[in-house]
Amino acid sequence: MFYEHKMPYGPIVLQRRDLCEMLVEKTNQKTCSIHYSKKLVKYDSTGADGQFKLHFDDGTTASADLIIGADGIHSTVRKFFFSDLASATSDEAKKEQYLRCIEPRWSGTYMYRTNMGIPKEKIQELNPEHPSLKVLSTIWCGKDKHGLTIDQGKMITFSVYHSIPSAQGSIREGSRTEDVDKQEVADALAGWEPALQQILHLHDPDVQYSRWAIHCVEPIPQSVSGNVILIGDAAHAMTPHQGVGGGQAVEDSHLLGRILAHPSTTKQSLKHALQVYQQIRLPFAKIAAQRSLFNGMMYEFNHPDYFYEAGRPPSKDELVRLGKAIEESFKWLGQGGCYDDWDEAERKLLEQDIGA
Ligand SMILES: Cc1cc2nc3c(=O)[nH]c(=O)nc-3n(C[C@H](O)[C@H](O)[C@H](O)COP(=O)(O)OP(=O)(O)OC[C@H]3O[C@@H](n4cnc5c(N)ncnc54)[C@H](O)[C@@H]3O)c2cc1C
Repeated sequence: MFYEHKMPYGPIVLQRRDLCEMLVEKTNQKTCSIHYSKKLVKYDSTGADGQFKLHFDDGTTASADLIIGADGIHSTVRKFFFSDLASATSDEAKKEQYLRCIEPRWSGTYMYRTNMGIPKEKIQELNPEHPSLKVLSTIWCGKDKHGLTIDQGKMITFSVYHSIPSAQGSIREGSRTEDVDKQEVADALAGWEPALQQILHLHDPDVQYSRWAIHCVEPIPQSVSGNVILIGDAAHAMTPHQGVGGGQAVEDSHLLGRILAHPSTTKQSLKHALQVYQQIRLPFAKIAAQRSLFNGMMYEFNHPDYFYEAGRPPSKDELVRLGKAIEESFKWLGQGGCYDDWDEAERKLLEQDIGA
């Protein structure tokens, strides 16, 4: 271990299923209907009073005054949003920029993971001093690769990242997730420190790993166009190296929800309200994405300020400097937050009210 980083406020672990259940429970069933298993295939503007017509893959349609594209990295809403902007401009550079935002790009990184954790007592038996037993999460750094162990209570989970830096930003053909056997993960970790090999060794030989090609959305120039808005991964899918993509999606939704529920927001003032949202959330989420990308580069000795060749590993002093930089990179998580964002948003909404 070359650096220990303690988060003063601690991370919050929340499974997606639990979050969804909590949200559904809190939803007012009298004013809000939830439809499951509806897949949007396209939307178009009806021209009548700014209304949209939504088309679903089961042949049904619906109408809406506002479209919130919260449909993830492969967002259908984002596809139409940027295709429409590209069609509407004669500026070739802008057209190209809009079209680049449609397809997610490969980050150049593969992640190997399995849902099967390793019981802590098995690790304890093999190596009572194993680093994964001492802290909540350990990041194992190395050239072009890093590993991550997380204490999940009774189990330790384990994932391995392997990057091809020259492939960052490329369009990758083929399936983004594939099942692979344990040997492929062992090959990726050949020559790594024994404690990490021990974790892999403790997994059943037949354990099925999957290999994910981690994709991102290019930094988008805007997340609002008329009464269509992109939030969460649809707007800013990022690498997982700070574990904040989901948190950013939650903060987007929180701020947008409060803006839409504010008494000053009406059908007439909606455009302004959405602009207020965009001004606050889009730049911030882009910075989070950039920080996350930089963290992955730091873990894998590829960050421009902490670049070490495979044949020239960092010295102890260099590792301490790198550890401090990684610690520093997480500091923003303890500062500011969605309540400050809301204060700023409300001020901007009220300014408009006064100006009107
Ligand atoms: C390996 C990995 C680890 C991560 N770890 C963390 C972490 O530790 N912490 C963290 O905060 N984030 C993490 N993230 C990021 C997090 O998973 C995402 O940022 C988050 O899920 C984004 O939420 P979202 O609601 O915007 O999109 P999604 O979670 O992708 O949800 C989109 C929803 O839209 C639906 N949908 C898609 N298309 C359509 C359509 N056409 N019509 C109707 N519905 C549609 C989908 O079915 C889905 O339900 C990680 C990501 C990865 C890849």
